[in-house]
Amino acid sequence: MDPAPAPPPPFAVRLVTGGGSSPELALLLRSLSAARVVALDAEWKPRRRGSPAAAGTGGGSSPASAPAPAPPQFPTVTLLQVACRGGDGGEDERERCEVFVVDLLAVPLADLWAPLRELFERPGVLKLGFRFKQDLVYLSATFAAALGGDAGFDRVEPFLDVTNIYYYLKGHDRQKKLPKETKSLATICEELLSVSLSKELQCSDWSYRPLSEGQIQYAASDAYYLLDIFDLFLQKITTEGKCSSTMELNSDRHCSSTVIECSSSGYDICSGGYSMSIVTKYSEKILLAESDTKPRSSRRKEKPKLATNVKCKDKVDCSTEWQGPPPWDPSIGGDGYPKFLCDVMIEGLAKHLRCVGIDAAILSSKKPEPRELLNQTYKEGRILLTRDVKLLKYQYLASNQVYRVKSLLKHDQLAEVIDMFQLKISEDQLMSRCTKCNGSFIQKPLTLEEAVEASKGFQVIPSCLFNRNLEFWKCTDCNQLYWEGTQYHNAVQKFLSVCNISD
Ligand SMILES: [Zn+2]
Repeated sequence: MDPAPAPPPPFAVRLVTGGGSSPELALLLRSLSAARVVALDAEWKPRRRGSPAAAGTGGGSSPASAPAPAPPQFPTVTLLQVACRGGDGGEDERERCEVFVVDLLAVPLADLWAPLRELFERPGVLKLGFRFKQDLVYLSATFAAALGGDAGFDRVEPFLDVTNIYYYLKGHDRQKKLPKETKSLATICEELLSVSLSKELQCSDWSYRPLSEGQIQYAASDAYYLLDIFDLFLQKITTEGKCSSTMELNSDRHCSSTVIECSSSGYDICSGGYSMSIVTKYSEKILLAESDTKPRSSRRKEKPKLATNVKCKDKVDCSTEWQGPPPWDPSIGGDGYPKFLCDVMIEGLAKHLRCVGIDAAILSSKKPEPRELLNQTYKEGRILLTRDVKLLKYQYLASNQVYRVKSLLKHDQLAEVIDMFQLKISEDQLMSRCTKCNGSFIQKPLTLEEAVEASKGFQVIPSCLFNRNLEFWKCTDCNQLYWEGTQYHNAVQKFLSVCNISD
């Protein structure tokens, strides 16, 4: 027997699909205007571009099987989840919670834009999210694409990130650096609330309609449980009884020291027994720079100008830890592993990564402009690995797609990347990729005869290999041949230890 199904979530979900005068939309807008705390989350269709795992998963028709290279685009957000707490007054308003799943493919975005924008900026409403900046970038792009360039969103404040709440609740000493690992929302919910969120649906197709009941519940949970976590936070700050400035939620990870602002006037909005000024004391804001709101274009002339926002300057030194999605978020692409782009300073690391089977590209140009690096990173859904601190100033990428390698030696660099991205390398991944060009090998090994044939005029196979019954592999991209020689075995030994593979 299968285990008993999880109990139904403790909240009712309203699916909003109508526009104009539909009752669900009216209710949503009423709840938004009365809310004191709003938890937000968004879903979009997972992008699988360039991922071998993508092939054959589309059950239906996929009309554009061979698309022309299109300029890079942000994914279209197809679902917005909103959990509202707080009513128009009264003692029990804290109890009131309404959860909406808004189908952005059905509701006219024109009906939503102004209320959302107002909500995002309304000082008296705390917005909660889990690494919401990326959601905001995509949401903004989705609205701008539908309604015109000005119809994006550029800020959310006051905002509180659940990752920060988590570390606060865990009693993290703010003098110390936050731990390296990035917790997923599912992990945080499990640790704090003993609730397990289904991970299966996370990368389901959020653009497919009708949505399944499971999808609706899953999507709603992602917003709803943020409120529960927020309640724990409230309890804690209430029992600690005060809001001294030394208790400020700070976060190296988000470099919030530069953006955290205490409520300037100290206004109080008493809402169900807690004071909004306490909450805003811990909050921060999300500001999108102009560069954040435009997809990087691969076409030069379209001024893919990556803003060097002065405000981000302070961020440079502290953005050394990984701030992007957890390893490895399948909605970003890749087949369970991140794909990297190494800048020229760390080409040796690229080769090492390939040796352990990880996709690690380098640019062909020896002196690439930062823009080329960033464009390729974005276009191919890669993570840029660099030692160049200057690249971290590109704010959007800095929080999502750039990691600054700290080690100097390539062995240490490999160990650092494996550790930081929690890459689980198995033995059969070793030597499974062409170290020369990052290509993959043909599936079946070649016999000696086939290898000799394939190497003609291209590569010399030493005659000492001829009667050793070896297998050969050919790179599908550059045709380089590889075989299990002494070097191979030495390298395997070396990487077994770097990757912590015990046999
Ligand atoms: Zn190759």
